[in-house]
Amino acid sequence: MIIGVPKEIKNNENRVALTPAGVAELKKYQHTIYVQSTAGSGSGFTDGEYEKAGAQILASIEEVYAIADMIIKVKEPITREYNLIKEGQLIFTYFHFASSEELTHAMIARKAICLAYETVERKDRSLPLLIPMSEVAGRMAPQEGAKYLEKPLKGRGILLGGVPGVKPAHVLVLGGGVVGTQAAKIAAGLGAQVTIMDINLTRLRELSDFMPANVITQYSNEYNIREAIKTADLIIGAVLIPGAKAPHLITRDMLKEMKPGTVLVDVAVDQGGCIETCQPTTHENPTYIIDDVVHYCVANMPGAVPYTSTLALTNATLPYAVQLANKGWQKACADNEELRLGLNVVNGKVVYKGVADAWNLKL
Ligand code: NAD
Repeated sequence: MIIGVPKEIKNNENRVALTPAGVAELKKYQHTIYVQSTAGSGSGFTDGEYEKAGAQILASIEEVYAIADMIIKVKEPITREYNLIKEGQLIFTYFHFASSEELTHAMIARKAICLAYETVERKDRSLPLLIPMSEVAGRMAPQEGAKYLEKPLKGRGILLGGVPGVKPAHVLVLGGGVVGTQAAKIAAGLGAQVTIMDINLTRLRELSDFMPANVITQYSNEYNIREAIKTADLIIGAVLIPGAKAPHLITRDMLKEMKPGTVLVDVAVDQGGCIETCQPTTHENPTYIIDDVVHYCVANMPGAVPYTSTLALTNATLPYAVQLANKGWQKACADNEELRLGLNVVNGKVVYKGVADAWNLKL
């Protein structure tokens, strides 16, 4: 199969969909890979490394789309890419169709085969191509929190780990799923005193079994949250209710109960946030302050660490890309239910219920 890797053109997107290691793996199966020049530079991979691994470099995005049977990307196509997509071309990337009617109609019109990373789903209902980004955001959350706790950045001026003779910071993590677990581990590793809350008791039992001694688990309810925020220096929002907006576990009135300079990192901002006063921010301008409380609500946290994010994402996407390339999308999706669930738009028709429902379209 001929595989094309365009350079991401969405603002501030530095990830790339295939690494030189991925090229080498696909070459083992005799596929032909075209990579747009400098596609990997934001993640630290040079054109030379791709060539050495067996890819051919093309100068323009137009050439990549024109030649490829399968395009592997990171972000959804943006308006200026729509017309480059050919009928029957397989596009394997994040689409998030339910949040863009324009994109949905554009892909229907192009008659492309749109296989969305975010809906590839395992039998246990986990989403293998979203997990790596949650892991990155979770591990980043205490790092960002620690930074904004510094006085020059308007925080309380407390070191997460304390020092001998001085007690460490208290970190409260709301939600003990992928993001919350990674956040708690890193905060604990830095020496903080960590409380992790969830409503899932089974999950709390698991966390209690493997977390270090400086992490305590607690059931998540308003009473416990109101108590914990009084002593917390850093609060990390990591809840998710699948398919719904995040519940507001921290309400506006609670800010007054917090210590001045407390930092809130609401990782759940992409689902509306679990902190009522959370509004999406960007890496250029990540924080704002309400009632002396620092809010960090960056909606694409992994974008700040493209090297790690690219490797984490491609570790998860490559095995699926290999199946698609080796078998073609029809046979690969017939053989693998996980991949079939990734199909969102096929030959001008929406085939994923969530997307059809979002825009009142027929399945
Ligand atoms: P997950 O499903 O693995 O975990 C969510 C956890 O929240 C579950 O354990 C669930 O039981 C718990 N929960 C639900 N209601 C709760 C409540 N009332 N109190 C406490 N816990 C509750 O999800 P995840 O992968 O960890 O993702 C968490 C959020 O982070 C999602 O909104 C996701 O989209 C977001 N996210 C954001 C970024 C970013 O860059 N900002 C990156 C990755 C993920």
